[in-house]
Amino acid sequence: MAFIKSDLGGVLPLLASGKVRELYDVDSKCLLFVTTDRISAFDVIMKNGVPEKGLVLTLMTVHWFQYLQKQIPDLKTHFISLDLPPTIPKDVAAQLKGRSMLVRKLKVFPLEAIVRGYITGSAWSSYKTTGEVNGKKMTEGLQESQEFPEPIYTPSTKAELGRHDENISTEQAAHIVGEKYAKRIEELSLRIYKAARDYAKEKGIIIADTKFEFGLDEETDEVVLVDEVLTPDSSRFWSKSAYKLGQSQESFDKQPLRDWLTDNGLKNKQGVEMPEDVVEATHVRYLDAFKILTGRSLQETLQDLK
Ligand code: ATP
Ligand code: MG
Repeated sequence: MAFIKSDLGGVLPLLASGKVRELYDVDSKCLLFVTTDRISAFDVIMKNGVPEKGLVLTLMTVHWFQYLQKQIPDLKTHFISLDLPPTIPKDVAAQLKGRSMLVRKLKVFPLEAIVRGYITGSAWSSYKTTGEVNGKKMTEGLQESQEFPEPIYTPSTKAELGRHDENISTEQAAHIVGEKYAKRIEELSLRIYKAARDYAKEKGIIIADTKFEFGLDEETDEVVLVDEVLTPDSSRFWSKSAYKLGQSQESFDKQPLRDWLTDNGLKNKQGVEMPEDVVEATHVRYLDAFKILTGRSLQETLQDLK
């Protein structure tokens, strides 16, 4: 059974509900960050979910936080613990274990810090017509899905639910969050992407591009990595062995769902219910991505949490 919506029975106040997550207020410093099994494709949320997806996203994020902090010692993250606050009733806590984390409550910068290692999606469309990506001239003669000589940072605004994010220049980003923070966000984003790209490639996954979010710790003036990181939902994952230069690549995780939606004329339609075989194919892909990247099955990882 997929976990579509959390219900804490009023034990903690619900602060916000996004496309995939629900945020609860724990105290003045902490939030409970719950990841459901909801899934979106072509920017629309499906009616049913993918079992265990929220576990995969949460535990993969925690795996990355731990790896990245070893690689980048000056990196701070919002992660506190996978334990649940003691005020939560035992039966509810059992359902949330592994799909929720206690995180630092921070003021999130209104920026999507996007890093692209390979040219695809909207960047490819823009390059084909103008030779530019986010207003910057790129190397000539790049082919679709080719790796950039160096990863590029292409920030965008963080749109309200149901609206589209807009690409902005690094100058506009500096205008929105302030020069000092914008610089730090860009620098950290590129360092994190490079570390993750190298790690994943070794294991057989190409992280073509990814999105980070950062928050500000107002007491220490530190820029902190928040949200989920380097998951199939926040990144484009491609299979290294299936990679072919000069064409679009299959999505490691959402291809079965996207194909089914496209083949059935359901692309961009609201309230679509996925059939069981599409759910299962997607479920398997998420589990595979987890095992490939962390080196352990989801079940083994969950066992250790008990
Ligand atoms: P999507 O990621 O699918 O585009 P979304 O970002 O609106 O949608 P979710 O991912 O479901 O929504 O919810 C996560 C929300 O929590 C985001 O708005 C994110 O900015 C916010 N958030 C993440 N970490 C923190 C934190 N440490 N403190 C406060 N807010 C946070
Ligand atoms: Mg999100």
